[in-house]
Amino acid sequence: CGVFGVWAPKRDVARLTYFGLRALQHRGQESAGIAVGDGGTVMVRKDLGLCGQVFSNADLSTLTGQLAVGHVRYGTAGAKSWEAAQPHLSTINEVIIALAHNGTLVNTDELRRQLIELGVPFLSNSDSEVATKLIGYFTQRTGHLREGIRKTMELVRGGYAMTLINESSLYAFRDPHGIRPLVLGKLVDGGLDQADLKAAAKLPSLEESTEANEPVPEVTTAGGWVVASETCALDIVGAEYVRDIRPGEILRINDEGLVSEQGVPAAEKPANCIFEQVYFARPDSIMNGKSVYACRYDMGRMLAIESPVNADMVIGVPDSGMPPAEGFAHESGIRYGEGLIKNRYVARTFIEPTQELRAMGVRMKLNPLKDNIEGKRIVVIDDSIVRGTTMVQLVKMLRGAGAKEIHVRINSPEVIWPCFYGIDTDVQQQLISANKTVDEICEFIGADSLAFLSVEGLLKCMPEGGYCDACFTGVYPVAIPDSFGRDKFM
Ligand code: 5GP
Ligand code: SF4
Ligand code: MG
Repeated sequence: CGVFGVWAPKRDVARLTYFGLRALQHRGQESAGIAVGDGGTVMVRKDLGLCGQVFSNADLSTLTGQLAVGHVRYGTAGAKSWEAAQPHLSTINEVIIALAHNGTLVNTDELRRQLIELGVPFLSNSDSEVATKLIGYFTQRTGHLREGIRKTMELVRGGYAMTLINESSLYAFRDPHGIRPLVLGKLVDGGLDQADLKAAAKLPSLEESTEANEPVPEVTTAGGWVVASETCALDIVGAEYVRDIRPGEILRINDEGLVSEQGVPAAEKPANCIFEQVYFARPDSIMNGKSVYACRYDMGRMLAIESPVNADMVIGVPDSGMPPAEGFAHESGIRYGEGLIKNRYVARTFIEPTQELRAMGVRMKLNPLKDNIEGKRIVVIDDSIVRGTTMVQLVKMLRGAGAKEIHVRINSPEVIWPCFYGIDTDVQQQLISANKTVDEICEFIGADSLAFLSVEGLLKCMPEGGYCDACFTGVYPVAIPDSFGRDKFM
């Protein structure tokens, strides 16, 4: 999923959010929603579909206020329904909040049951709604939204990046491992306010601040602030990247300024999702100081070093396979060319619910460029093989277009383990690498050769930081409780 939040009283916050969500559309195409706070209350509009389908110009004009949060959904936990669309609202007595969540919480069943016993109503079976209602419940009990958030962070387990609003304050917070991404940006309409940027970049961490849970008043409120899953959403609204939200941190932004506190202690080592760089994030986003494009390019170079092959042309599978294909070509000296043309107007195929639709989806989306392929020995680069659906189709297509040899190179290691933290890589039974050897997969997809990038090779392409690579290694940074139904996945 993609999340976006903005606090900017002098700006059209609904439209800023709309454009932010459009930049994050690759993170989810199932539903879209925007909630706006106007000082008195919170209004939400959400529906199934892409941003452009959900919001008309008139809708955006009626969503007036000083701050907003938005969400594009990519269903992992819970069903595909209007009720599961976000932002989720919680209204308990006077407390109205709207929350946008990217990630998966692995221990919400019991918490949900307890809330229902306390009389809290639920509209969906989504983990995000449990988080929303928990925050609402504790806020109402303690009288403080930040207490509600803090207590909820203490209770929930999993990977999450959340942003929420009440009528006047924007909050952003992240799980203790920083599994899902979340960045802070400053709106810079009247030119960059360097003092503000510097101050925000240097907010004290828990270890530095003397009173751990006392919010630290920070900077003035000139202009406005933005939080988003990726920096590409800051770019589109003209916001300057300030820094990442820290693991376990709670950030609050309102007319008193920007305040940071450590909601729960950060884990010893961060565990940023490495699949963001492999597949999920947009290439023009910057993560841990390095563009996703540059990471993918380097993965392609590393792949050429680890698994070289003689061939006439290197092609990439659009879109995420293109940068590593360029890197592979650069390193190997084999020329880079276009071999597959993508129809830009078909949404990502992975989302389709059944295997049959998924297989159709590949054909609808990609067509081979026969001129370029006929008679050639081709290296095909894609970011990952999950179920194997895409590659089976592609190899068939390329053979049909006259390729003499097809050498498949994948710029990530084999996906062997299910993800429990918000990326839908499916149950282990469906993961082709969990069930077949590399040779068997090669035969299954009908390629002349097949190789994956090694885990070490992948890590060498990443900027400094701590990463989750559980889907490749099975080393899970956050324990999955039995109640989550681990056995259903493995
Ligand atoms: P497969 O077809 O093997 O099941 O999946 C691999 C293809 O799906 C690759 O082309 C890759 O770009 C894409 N892919 C990998 N992981 C994900 C994911 O989590 N979501 C979506 N939408 N696509 C994915
Ligand atoms: Fe990302 Fe894989 Fe970890 Fe899931 S298991 S958070 S996809 S690295
Ligand atoms: Mg792909």
